[in-house]
Amino acid sequence: MDICKTISQTREIIRDIKKKNKTIGFTPTMGALHEGHLSLIRQSKKETDFTVVSIYVNPIQFGPREDFKKYPRNLEKDVKMCKENGVDLVFAPSDNEMYPKIKSQNIKNYYIETYVDQFTLSKLLCGRFRKNHFRGVMTVVCKLFNIIKPDIAYFGAKDYQQAKIIEQMVKDLNFDITVKIMPTIREIDGLAMSSRNKYLDSQERKEASYIYKTLSEAKKKILEHKNISSTYIKKFIRSRLVKSIRSLKKIDYIEVINPETLENIKTTYIPCIIAVALHTKNARLIDNILVSK
Ligand code: AMP
Repeated sequence: MDICKTISQTREIIRDIKKKNKTIGFTPTMGALHEGHLSLIRQSKKETDFTVVSIYVNPIQFGPREDFKKYPRNLEKDVKMCKENGVDLVFAPSDNEMYPKIKSQNIKNYYIETYVDQFTLSKLLCGRFRKNHFRGVMTVVCKLFNIIKPDIAYFGAKDYQQAKIIEQMVKDLNFDITVKIMPTIREIDGLAMSSRNKYLDSQERKEASYIYKTLSEAKKKILEHKNISSTYIKKFIRSRLVKSIRSLKKIDYIEVINPETLENIKTTYIPCIIAVALHTKNARLIDNILVSK
């Protein structure tokens, strides 16, 4: 397995792979790898000849009061997991490699002149609460696509909005890449696996399982009645979450949405998606469930 820290080194290897007419599968990550990431890597191994994983905590997708500094980083352990799972190339660049400092300007933050953004999708749901988050995500994924040049890129349904945004970006900007959205991998009690679950203390961790339990109950209600008021479903979820999660600090949103446009729907139909984002004492957690037959 190759571990590359520079773009030029990576490009060299990719050029070689392309020359051999091998297909490239790519999983972008921020590291602190878990079974959720590994499920994407395994799919890439199954479907392509050469599997690339990027490990990079992208500063420009974090807000000024968000967890960029404390985000879990453990490159050594991640590299070991990649090796054990048959990854061919790990791309783990530094901030300076991705956003080179410009000496002639007095700029404190990571500097980039060109961003990629969207008018609608990136402004909904999490976009309402994390200004410029998806602009940062799209920009870094765009850069990574141009470096890795994958045939297939793998994203998790755990971050459903992110995956749909990337799908749209690929379409709009004519990337010759297939985007695959893979199912959310969960802990035994239902909590969606996430690197941020490390922030939870034991009480919060127990309570966090009620997010998925509640979403599952709401899904059952929709499947039973098919067309019911989204307001009713949202109220039901809210009251359940407030009752069962004592460490709950704030609910950013509970929405019932169309799976393609991500727009809120007033009366439920199948398929639809229920998505939530909330803050407990120590973490911001998101989850969603697809309501389909
Ligand atoms: P992250 O490192 O959190 O930026 O995630 C990297 C990729 O892994 C994204 O496409 C995520 O959606 C995906 N991912 C994260 N957690 C899970 C999970 N529990 N199940 C499936 N995919 C996941």
